[in-house]
Amino acid sequence: RKTGPLKILFLSSDTGGGHRASAEALANQFQRLFPGTTYDLFDIWTDVDSSWPYYTIKDTYKSFSATPWKWRTLYHVSNNVVYSKLADLHSYYMNEEKIFEKLEEYNPDVIVSVHPTMNYVPLFSARKLSEKNGKDIPFFTVVTDFGSGHCTWFNKDVDKMYLASKPIKAIAQVRCGVPDEKIVMSGLPIRYDFAKQADAMGDRTTPEGKAHQAKIREGLEIDTNKRMVLVVGGGEGVGSLSDIVNEIYAKLRTQGVDATICVICGRNEKLKADLETRCWDTVVSQSLKSYESLKSRLYTRLLKLHATRSRRIQLALDRAAARAEKGDVAATPGKVDVVPLGFVKNMAEYMVAADVLVTKAGPGTIAEAAAVGLPIMVTSHLPGQEAGNVDIVLNGGFGDFCEDPETIALEIACWLQESHLLDDMSRKAMKVGHPHAAEEIALDIGETAHAWIERNSMKRNNKL
Ligand code: UDP
Repeated sequence: RKTGPLKILFLSSDTGGGHRASAEALANQFQRLFPGTTYDLFDIWTDVDSSWPYYTIKDTYKSFSATPWKWRTLYHVSNNVVYSKLADLHSYYMNEEKIFEKLEEYNPDVIVSVHPTMNYVPLFSARKLSEKNGKDIPFFTVVTDFGSGHCTWFNKDVDKMYLASKPIKAIAQVRCGVPDEKIVMSGLPIRYDFAKQADAMGDRTTPEGKAHQAKIREGLEIDTNKRMVLVVGGGEGVGSLSDIVNEIYAKLRTQGVDATICVICGRNEKLKADLETRCWDTVVSQSLKSYESLKSRLYTRLLKLHATRSRRIQLALDRAAARAEKGDVAATPGKVDVVPLGFVKNMAEYMVAADVLVTKAGPGTIAEAAAVGLPIMVTSHLPGQEAGNVDIVLNGGFGDFCEDPETIALEIACWLQESHLLDDMSRKAMKVGHPHAAEEIALDIGETAHAWIERNSMKRNNKL
């Protein structure tokens, strides 16, 4: 029932890398499914001469997300219906006309918002434009958060809303009153590369899956006889990545695990340069000195964990703790390489090549890993919306959450020595993953938009 090309306007902002990545994944699918489709990406706050504080959105995100207490305060103060209504009204009075002009200038067939702050004023402008031109412009929201989301995402007046998890659906319905018929449960829209890789690899625990992984590793010039750990610092390469890499290196060496650690530093050039010149022998001797304090921390953590973790992960941790207590160091040290990388475009290949992902709780990165069955160690999260992403990993049983670099490293060393545990987590990840989400959302939006535009133009013709 697909039909012709559409002119699509995405509403997004570069507050983190995930919104743009989702918009591009969707745009790519629209062009594949509806050939001839054109699109543009519009940041309603910085592409027009908007008022304070809206034009500072990217800088505010950057500075607040680097300071968790500031982010926590902003998130929790603003995450309620009263605050968001006031913000909507304020931004409407200050900026609606400018946003309307921009929409009129672009004259889209369809508007797709992939940003929590772009679901009220632009919807109002879109409806006004439809009235003025007699051309109906359907408006869709694709929520790019995974486990929880800010209430500004959920405007019950949009035409349809695409959500990736049950906790998000509960917020949309219970807190924000979005009617059931407007909600479509979909995965998070991720790049087509992930769908292609997931299809080619199938289940990574099978011989066919392993053969595909080996082929991808060869292409990336990564040793096929070692384990591979992928450490991702997000688009901007934030987080205590440097300490985490040091500890993973040291623990894999001392536990005798042969591995390649690929570190994606994103746009953090300094970290990349640092890792390229680091003296790894010093890193190992420093890490051994702190082994003693690790034992007690590990036990405290184990006590806290027992209620929440899957049984297998818990057992692996028990074994790690027992080893740490003995001060266990393998007779033959592991052969470990560190490969520092900048911003990579072929993330899907790196995720297929890896055995374990170490990352902050970015929704896009978690959805991508799940799509290719990759177990995850989550090392940090932004307070608020990213906390729900940690729950997706823990409740899904395909990884763990830990902030202490040494414990992270010891746990990873355990996982890599337990193929059954890795396979189990991988299969659980695949249950949560949704590699074809972007394609399914684009098809549904495209077909809904065509049906909607057709129906409304018939209605208008009948009236005439
Ligand atoms: N990413 C990438 N190359 C890199 C680093 C990150 O393509 O070198 C992508 C990653 O695959 C994901 C996005 O950047 O799609 C980050 O989005 P996420 O939602 O995980 O985090 P955010 O940056 O939005 O907080």
